[in-house]
Formats: sequence, structure tokens, C-alpha cells
Amino acid sequence: MVSEQRTADANFESLLRIFTVPEGPDSTLTQIEEELSRNLNKFLRDHIVAEEKSLKDIERDFSNAHIPEQPEFVSDHTQHLLDTLVSHSVHTASPSFIGHMTSALPYFLMPLSKIMIALNQNLVKIETSKAFTPLERQVLGMLHRLIYSRDDNFYSSWMHSAEHSLGAFCSGGTIANITALWVARNKALKAQGSFKGVEKEGLFKAMKHYGYEGLAVLVSERGHYSLKKAADVLGIGQEGLVSVKTADNNRICPQDLQEKIAQLKQQNIKPFAVIGVAGTTETGNVDPLREIAKICHDEGCHFHVDAAWGGATLMSNNHRHLLNGIELADSVTIDAHKQLYIPMGAGMVLFKDPDAMKSIEHHAQYILRKGSKDLGSHTLEGSRSGMAMLVYASMHIISRAGYELLIDQSIAKARYFADLIKAQPDFELVSEPELCLLTYRYLPAHIKQALDKADTKQKLTLNELLNELTKFVQKTQRETGKSFVSRTQLNPKCWDQLNTIVFRVVLANPLTTHEILHSVLEEQRKIVLQAPNLMRQIEQMAQNILNA
Ligand SMILES: *Cc1c(COP(=O)(O)O)cnc(C)c1O
Repeated sequence: MVSEQRTADANFESLLRIFTVPEGPDSTLTQIEEELSRNLNKFLRDHIVAEEKSLKDIERDFSNAHIPEQPEFVSDHTQHLLDTLVSHSVHTASPSFIGHMTSALPYFLMPLSKIMIALNQNLVKIETSKAFTPLERQVLGMLHRLIYSRDDNFYSSWMHSAEHSLGAFCSGGTIANITALWVARNKALKAQGSFKGVEKEGLFKAMKHYGYEGLAVLVSERGHYSLKKAADVLGIGQEGLVSVKTADNNRICPQDLQEKIAQLKQQNIKPFAVIGVAGTTETGNVDPLREIAKICHDEGCHFHVDAAWGGATLMSNNHRHLLNGIELADSVTIDAHKQLYIPMGAGMVLFKDPDAMKSIEHHAQYILRKGSKDLGSHTLEGSRSGMAMLVYASMHIISRAGYELLIDQSIAKARYFADLIKAQPDFELVSEPELCLLTYRYLPAHIKQALDKADTKQKLTLNELLNELTKFVQKTQRETGKSFVSRTQLNPKCWDQLNTIVFRVVLANPLTTHEILHSVLEEQRKIVLQAPNLMRQIEQMAQNILNA
């Protein structure tokens, strides 16, 4: 929609006005606010997918690198945003958007989030946050208690102690994982004799002092890519992140873990941390945490659990046993912006020991003074918003029991979908759901038979064709915009660990119905018909194998 551009004047008077509280219920801004709420709610309600427009065309709307010389009216600009941005956004809240870990949000967060923006508190230091600092410390205490179940005395001693912190609130799982490994690294290379510690003297001198040839962190091959970034920024190097084999069901193989640790030690490389994944990003499986804890204890390694996605399962008394052993971890990552249904930008890392974060403590003269309650002395990030308030509000408004219902319905729905897929003659469930995530692909029974019977070379070729088909179906479904599943690549044992492209589904949205799940499969069947050439190749090859 092209409307004639009205322009405002860039004068100081009108600038002052935009910093002043709007006058009343009839003010333009109030009206814009209402209109915007109406529009956004409409978008969230009935947009299945964004209006059809190619990314190239959208880029054209965002192609001007000039900062405007002339101010626009807020009302005009709002319309511009609705037209160019909102209408071409991805509708992540749709019940048929079942491909990713960030799903629908409860509506109460939208009005409440205004408190956060309006007050604009900076959590880096108490001078600019006051009540938000104790609130954030309480939220960290709640999550700490959810994991470690310490008694009330513990929390009254440590939760608000200036010298301690139970964890750090941050923008997401990536920063949380980096923070955990930062603490672990500094603990492993701490001050000793004349050596002042890695945080003072750096990695090079630390290695010379301790006589190591390198450092290593171990995680299963299903570990999240953020760990590579962590290894990189912490100076361990991406090759220092050692990949451990998975046994059945995408869970780490403890025996291989032990062997890898032994090999590293033989090369005089210090394995200082092992990561257990509680809810892998690709398959949703949980590592055997107790077994990893035991190995870490014997080896003197830091035990970190990456529960960015799966951590919320602890809210359900019916399912928290799936994460048994998490309470033995030295540190745990949880993303509130995944299964705790908080807007993006809410990650946390929790430490079992209230003293653990001392190894990354930083102080400065004008803020973060020693003995202050400033949260910034223990966070990688500097200035931070009051996101913790939204977690706090959700904990109260939804409550533990409410979260339990959300978690339970998601796990039950994944079970339902898994059984539904298994009952189809033309789909294959590739990974069983443990939490609310599963993977599958289109694989008609007779082609499956052929794949079983094929020799190594044929298997590879046929599987490649099937990969092409899965990619085509996923891409077409996304572009059609009725529903969305994501895709990833796995190496299933039953298919000789061949690279296998699969659909990936996360069933967190409580509004996703069984009917929607049925229709997702229906739609995928129809999309297969749009690839007749590829299907002909697959059929032909399958026939050849079966007739041989
Ligand atoms: C999502 C996720 C992360 C990364 O979290 P961000 O919030 O995207 O930074 C790390 N680990 C796991 C297992 C995850 O699922």
C-alpha cells in the first residue's frame, strides 16, 4: 500500500513531546496503541502464514541505507510497520507451526511486558534496577530450587547474598552455556603458587604453569552448536570440544565417554568439563545424567547439563524423573524462552555451589563495587533488561501446577503423534519422543522393504533420493504456509548410520490439536504427489531391488 508520505518537522519542540507521557484516552498515541493491539491480535489469530511475498521483494522494502533526514508521524510509521514487517513475519504462535522450540506465548505477557519497557531498568547494577535486582535473584532461586531442591535455609542464606550468586540471567542458552564453561575453565586453571589464575594471566601462561598440552570439553554428538562457539571464545578451540558417540536413542554412550577421557589424558590434554544434554535440540532425548555425574566425579571434571530446552520438564511432577541426576550437575542451563513460554531473550545458568561464580567475578570502580549486590559482577553481558520480571509473572500466573499441565499435554501429544505415524503405512518414525519432540520421514512400506534388502551401494543411493524427497516436502510445506515442521539430519542405527534427513516436530503449543497432526501428514502426502519425477526414480529403484 503506497500512501503519500506526510512528513513532520525535525524540531526540538516535537522531540520533547515524544518523551512526554501521552495526554489521555483520546491522544493519538493511545489510539495507535489500541489499533496496534487489535492488528497484532488479528495477525496472531488468523494469519496462518505471512502474506505471500518472496524474500527478494521483502528485501527491496529494506534496501535503503540512508538514515531518514525527515521525521515521520508515528501513526504513518505504524502503518508502514504493519504493511512491510508484521504482515510478512513468521507466525510462530500458530498451532500448526510445530517445527521449533519457541512457540505461542500467553497473552498476558504482552500488557505486562510494557512494565519492563516503560521502567527500562538496567539489571547490571542495583542503582538502576532497585527492586528488579531482588526479583531476578528470586527467580534464579526458584529455578535453582527446581533443580537442586535445597532447603529454605539454603535460599535464605544465599539467594540475596552480595558475595554469592546462584546463577546468572542472560539472553539465552548460548550465553548460559558460555558462562558455565567459563566458570569451569577458570576453576580448572585457578591460581596456584605464583600463578595468578587464567583470568589474570591468560591461557598461554596457564597451560605452561599446569603443564597441559590442551584443554577439552566433552559432549555427545547431539550437543548444541552453541557449545562450539563457547569452545572458540574461551580459547579451547572448536577441536577442543570432543564429540562422544551416542548409544541407542541419541543418548551419550558412557563407555565411549570414558574412553575419550582416557585418550585425552594420555595426550596430556585436560578434560575439564563434560556436558550432559537434557533434551537434545534435534531429537529431544536426555543423556543418562547419573552415569555422567559419576564419571565427572571420578575424573574431577565440571559436570554441566545443557537443559536449555528440556529443563522446563522439571515443572511436571509426573515427568521430572526423566531428568534424574540433573541435581548432581555443577551447573545447568535453562532457557525460559523455550518451554517456559517466555518471549525470546530469557536464558539462565544455575550453579549448585553459591561460590562457583567467584571464578568469573569482575569489579569496576564506578559500578560493580565489591560487596554490592550488582548482578553485573557475575554476568558475561553488561546492560540487561528486566526480562526476569516476565518469568516471575508467569511463575505466579501459571504456577508450577499450570506448567505441569503444559508439559504433560506436550509429552502426551508427542506420544499420540508418534503412534499415529507408526500406524501409517507410508511414514517412518525415526526417533521416538522422550519429551515433546520427534522425528520422522515419508517412507512407504514397499520402499522401506527395498531399503532393507538393498546392498550397501544401493542403500546409499536410495536413501539419498529419499533425502531429496524429505527436503522437497519440508520446503514446499513451509512455502505453502499452512503448517510448518522443521528438518534435520540424523544417522539412525537401523539404517547403518546413513545421513538421513528427517522432519522434526516440537509439540509445545497447547493449541495444537490432534486434527492438526492428522492434517500435517495428509498435506505431506499431497506434496509428495508434486514430485512425480523424484517419486518415479524412487519407485523404480525400489522395484529393481525387490525384483532382484
Ligand atoms: C536452544 C538451545 C541452546 C541455545 O539457546 P539459545 O537460547 O538459542 O541461545 C543450547 N542448547 C540446547 C540444548 C538448546 O536446545
